[in-house]
Amino acid sequence: EAKRTGEGLRLYEAHLDPNDVNRLALVAELRTALTTEDIQVHVQPQAHTDDGRVRSVEALVRWNHPTRGRISPDEFIPVAERSGLIGALTTLVLDASLAAVAQWRRSGQDLSIAVNLSSRSLLDPGLVDEVAQLLQYHDVPPAALTLEVTEGSVMADPTRAISLLRELRALGVRLSVDDFGTGYSSLSYLQRLPIDEVKIDKSFVTDMLHRPGDTSIVRAITDLGRNLGLNVVAEGVEDQKTWDALAELGVHVVQGWHLARPMSVQALLPWLRERRTQ
Ligand code: C2E
Ligand code: CA
Ligand code: CA
Ligand code: CA
Repeated sequence: EAKRTGEGLRLYEAHLDPNDVNRLALVAELRTALTTEDIQVHVQPQAHTDDGRVRSVEALVRWNHPTRGRISPDEFIPVAERSGLIGALTTLVLDASLAAVAQWRRSGQDLSIAVNLSSRSLLDPGLVDEVAQLLQYHDVPPAALTLEVTEGSVMADPTRAISLLRELRALGVRLSVDDFGTGYSSLSYLQRLPIDEVKIDKSFVTDMLHRPGDTSIVRAITDLGRNLGLNVVAEGVEDQKTWDALAELGVHVVQGWHLARPMSVQALLPWLRERRTQ
């Protein structure tokens, strides 16, 4: 018996490759980090192309690991999704984002915030009530919250996702399709989604002036979005020339390093003040 158990254990260990071991450690550390200050929400401003004004920001989560340093959300969001921690992470980000908006509004800044929803959260039946409760708790008008969902996460289970999106929208929350153009959904699908905004993925935006194909894609998405009455946002805008080209194409809102890198919540109002005096 003992021998068989031992063999079983050895076999099990043999199946654990170093990546799995690393991932298990990361899951345990993420669970702890969710109760500490190591996970924080940063915000990146978005500007309107017509008047240059900043009326909104995107919330981007950050993990400052005590020994591993900064871990990218592209690395730990998938870990959170597979380990059942994504619900807690989404709650943390929503709570911090709405607290920030409430604070800015009390200081007289009429800002709104966009929060990324992972594909898992989009299938969470408790999400709608949670969003409603957090809006009420922080006393933030629903229209000051935009939820970003990717095309891919909607397409994973369109029927279910669309019914959840409808419920969220019924709260008065705005909805945005993130990373638009990178998925495989047909364009006609866009018309069926209860959304307010499309966000053109930075992979088409950043180098568009040197890649005619990218410019064509940006133009096509912008025309489509505008014709459907949607707000069109471009992310990954790294220089003034690209900003100008996007404004020319009819993109409503730009976001990217040219305007500002993501910053702490506390840094936003001083940044806005500084920008106005320039
Ligand atoms: P995303 O939603 O497409 O966010 C845009 C990413 O581009 C962010 O990376 C942002 O920092 C980066 N970025 C902004 N401006 C520029 C620019 O001008 N040039 C370039 N090259 N990059 C720029 P970040 O913060 O590392 O986030 C990566 C991804 O992680 C996000 O992609 C999003 O999918 C996910 N993510 C971030 N925060 C959250 C969150 O709170 N919840 C969920 N579910 N996912 C999140
Ligand atoms: Ca996003
Ligand atoms: Ca993107
Ligand atoms: Ca993304």
